Amino acid sequence: MHTNLINGEWVDASEAQELRNPSDLDEVVGVYAIGNREHADTAISAARHAARGWARSGIQLRCDALDTIGTELLVRREELGALLSREEGKTLAEGIGEFTRAGHIFKFHAQQALRAQGELVPSVRPGLHVEVTREPVGVAGLITPWNFPVAIPAWKIAPALACGNTVVFKPAEFAPASAWALAEIIHRSGLPAGVFNLVMGRGQEVGRAIAEDPRVNALSFTGSAATGQRLAVTAAHQLKRVQLEMGGKNPLVVLDDADLQQAVDCAVQSAFFSTGQRCTAASRLIVTAGIYARFRDALLERTRSLRVGHALVKTTQIGPVANAAQLDTNLRYLDIGRQEGASLACGGDRPTLPTRGHYLSPAVFVDCDNAMRICQEEIFGPVAALIHARDAEHALELANATAFGLSAGVCTSSLHLAQHFKRELRAGMVMVNAPTAGVDYHVPFGGTLGSSFGPREQGTHAREFFTQTKTTYVNA
Ligand code: ADP
Repeated sequence: MHTNLINGEWVDASEAQELRNPSDLDEVVGVYAIGNREHADTAISAARHAARGWARSGIQLRCDALDTIGTELLVRREELGALLSREEGKTLAEGIGEFTRAGHIFKFHAQQALRAQGELVPSVRPGLHVEVTREPVGVAGLITPWNFPVAIPAWKIAPALACGNTVVFKPAEFAPASAWALAEIIHRSGLPAGVFNLVMGRGQEVGRAIAEDPRVNALSFTGSAATGQRLAVTAAHQLKRVQLEMGGKNPLVVLDDADLQQAVDCAVQSAFFSTGQRCTAASRLIVTAGIYARFRDALLERTRSLRVGHALVKTTQIGPVANAAQLDTNLRYLDIGRQEGASLACGGDRPTLPTRGHYLSPAVFVDCDNAMRICQEEIFGPVAALIHARDAEHALELANATAFGLSAGVCTSSLHLAQHFKRELRAGMVMVNAPTAGVDYHVPFGGTLGSSFGPREQGTHAREFFTQTKTTYVNA
């Protein structure tokens, strides 16, 4: 059994789960502990105990540890990428790509550890000197979802440690294998006991215990909007620092003057790659009148040609849905779309393949109304809604008519229109002639409105959340 890592020791749990491969439900990926409140409590105590020492640790030590972790992630990316594909169902190329990204993230933050900076400022009062420095926050509670089982943990854990915080990490119960592999690598990287702790378990038990514990100073969460909102309330009661990354209902706008092939590529990648299970996926394709029919036909043709299959098979482009609960949600929304009067032009069926898996063919609803539930609620599956817009201004209005604001894209060959959409799209990330999903690791990631709350993640901006500012006055 793969157990929890608490205070530098592997700790057994009385409960465990058999993790099944969504590409082949007859294959057991591994057995993983399901921790409980006590595990969370002991891990938080350990992290609290280690916090002072780690906050004062040398930056070279932090840099070396994070760099060692990054190196191992990169060296083992093929093996670990296959594990990720087996537990989550994304294609092997995507699994390897995700471990590669995790490796790069650790290496980036290894260097960030060396770049801690402060300011020495003259005082307005004679004789005084002012120092502005950044200090670690203390214990960071990190709660992550199943769709990026190693990249999201990496982009929270690496900056938390680089900034001198200790960590209690709870991965998603649906995908603990990549997280456990990462924890095992971190364990061997030379960090003092208690600096990094892994507690696998249910959100309702372990996640809540972490969120509600006053000894946890900062809570960084990625997951559903419903859970995020609940955590915001918990954090507010304790005045706990909180960072939330939640859903999206991201638009990709295709304007009359777009390059058709490029627009279709962007749409297919954004909507269906990683089986549509990305918070930056484009689930609303908003297309203006002059290109609508041509775009629709080309999109349907491309979508029908996508190869759904076992994640480890080389020719597969779309892996299975990650778990049974998500498959149920997707099927439910396909029904909702039909009931709302949207026309399902392709996909949405469950192909029969040599292995028993959660397969679903990519679905396109055409002639949708932006007010429909399938255009307003996050589905998180390979389901796209095509929405007709009269012209560019109407497309912009529809794109912004959403409760979310994570990512938004526009396909156009007009510099003028690209500029206009860059300015006016209400989203934390805007893509011009590029897919809405697929982002760099050295620049900020996050959204506006109902998608995100708190400081941005990733890149140099990550330190905004994982440090707090101290102003010191020295009379000398
Ligand atoms: P998803 O729909 O992606 O599973 P969730 O928000 O349910 O989204 O889960 C994201 C993460 O939040 C998972 O690690 C899950 O265990 C955790 N989680 C779920 N409910 C709670 C909760 N009440 N308190 C803290 N964490 C939770």
